[in-house]
Amino acid sequence: MTNIHIPQELNNIDKLLMMEEDAKYEVTNDLDAECTAVFCANDIKGQHQPPKIPKMFLASKCIFNCAYCGCRCSREERPNYCNSPKELAQLSVNAAKNNGHGVFVTSAIYKNADYTQELLAECVRIMREDLGYKDFIHAKIMPGADPMLIAKTGQYANRLSVNIEVAHSSGYQRIAKQKNKSNIMTPMSDIAQQIIEAKYEKRDFATSQTTQLMAGSMNEDDRTIIILSKALYKKYHLKRIYYTAFHYTHPAKGYENENLSFTETPRWRMTRLYQADRLLQLYHFTPDDLTPESHPFLEPDIDPKAAWALRHLQMYPVEVNKADFETLLRVPGIGITYAKRIIEARRHCIVTHDLLRKMRIPLKRCIYFITCNGRYKGENILSSSPELRNRLAQDPD
Ligand code: SF4
Repeated sequence: MTNIHIPQELNNIDKLLMMEEDAKYEVTNDLDAECTAVFCANDIKGQHQPPKIPKMFLASKCIFNCAYCGCRCSREERPNYCNSPKELAQLSVNAAKNNGHGVFVTSAIYKNADYTQELLAECVRIMREDLGYKDFIHAKIMPGADPMLIAKTGQYANRLSVNIEVAHSSGYQRIAKQKNKSNIMTPMSDIAQQIIEAKYEKRDFATSQTTQLMAGSMNEDDRTIIILSKALYKKYHLKRIYYTAFHYTHPAKGYENENLSFTETPRWRMTRLYQADRLLQLYHFTPDDLTPESHPFLEPDIDPKAAWALRHLQMYPVEVNKADFETLLRVPGIGITYAKRIIEARRHCIVTHDLLRKMRIPLKRCIYFITCNGRYKGENILSSSPELRNRLAQDPD
């Protein structure tokens, strides 16, 4: 460990209050995959708020100047804090014990990326070896961090993350001038590689990585985001992508020429992105299914699965006694659990509307899209796309 000089400027209570503020710029604080798009038995629901675990910051003032971030170096008006690895380790263990689930250890870039990463690696080492903390640690990897330091950090963490933020590399110049494709994708690639190697060599290393993707920063459409998400999951074995809304509400020095209008990306867009993400991951939808070139944006009033159904009305109604599992999953209101329940039931009997009710499968959405033993009870509104859209919008899952 290099000799570290840490300025002491604030007491712990002030630091914790500021950490709470800084945590707003990052949503990557998961425990596990099933948190931001909740799967109900009947279908998929997106939520933009994952369950919280505390986010603990090593340092609050960054050498980078990302336009959207409260830690950016050009934001001179606020006081700053910096913890030593030992202090942060103790604060993190205390916070994790209070929370009961785990902790996310992160930082603004202090001095330079490798220096900060070394401090974070030392912090998680102290948490494990000196303080005996055994539960979940999610640790941040700095843009451009050295692979050796990623290895050191990952040795003690359960999960690592680097935030990609923009949907296209040209977006870095627009909102995060010191970031670039290389200093983000290289560590992401290193982590993916080290996860595989560590598993093969049976050595301690984080078992997953996540990232955060910002919507609305470069007027990109949802199709761009969803195509990128699909590629990232495949290439980097990501456990999860977190979607966050780009907010630009105060002018940031250094961005005067970027023509950044003050932006508040609507929250519903995150809900739809989380739903689309889960449909990609678990329902085998493709980016073209969710956002074809003719419809590059997800829709505010209906979820992406219902939107797909409305674009493919010719495939409905589906006979629940005959449809295969994948076809049942394309019925709005029928999710994985209900599709399995239907397939199991029909091994023993003919599935009727009454039986669906007895099986506690709500008919409010799926009734328009199914027949049971040849009987259709959907009030014939399948032939009226606007009316069906109204009903689906008024009666979300
Ligand atoms: S690198 Fe991270 S902490 Fe630093 S300004 Fe950018 S978003 Fe904020």
